[in-house]
Amino acid sequence: LSRPRHLAGPVIRGFGRGARKLGFPTANLDTRAPQVAEVLATLTPGVYAGYAAVLRPEGAPWPGESVTDWYRAAVNVGYVPSFDNRELSIEAHLLHEFSEDFYGAQMHLVLLAYLRPERKFVAIDALVAQIKHDIASTKRVLEELPFVPSACMFE
Ligand code: ADP
Ligand code: MG
Repeated sequence: LSRPRHLAGPVIRGFGRGARKLGFPTANLDTRAPQVAEVLATLTPGVYAGYAAVLRPEGAPWPGESVTDWYRAAVNVGYVPSFDNRELSIEAHLLHEFSEDFYGAQMHLVLLAYLRPERKFVAIDALVAQIKHDIASTKRVLEELPFVPSACMFE
């Protein structure tokens, strides 16, 4: 991307497929949050590499986490055609083991690179293979990109 894109909003429940069906949980941002809707409207659907931070709704660190913990994340923007969804969504798989779910948290996403367009997979195992590939791409791409989280993101 020519410039990083920053989105922040509440983590809401999706269909619960990420973890259960695919083995990769994705934290879904509430697209009704004005800041999320505004930035989402400018994004090309597809998979992005970036960083994510998880905070309490008031902005304090999530229990057991710290404001300065930015985790690498593979982020999907789009209509999730593999599951025939209709609504534009944004969801992030964070490359970090959390001890608990963080529904209701305020999640910040900083997108740094566009990896690929969205496409439909009929077979679940092909989709899972693509997700593994996307995670590998995320790690590779982020190694080449500087990331300096700025304090203004939390204002
Ligand atoms: P949903 O459809 O509700 O988004 P998922 O199966 O995709 O359900 O699981 C997503 C939830 O799992 C997140 O909202 C978050 O609370 C939790 N979670 C735990 N670990 C992670 C992780 N590494 N990345 C993303 N979400 C995670
Ligand atoms: Mg999800």
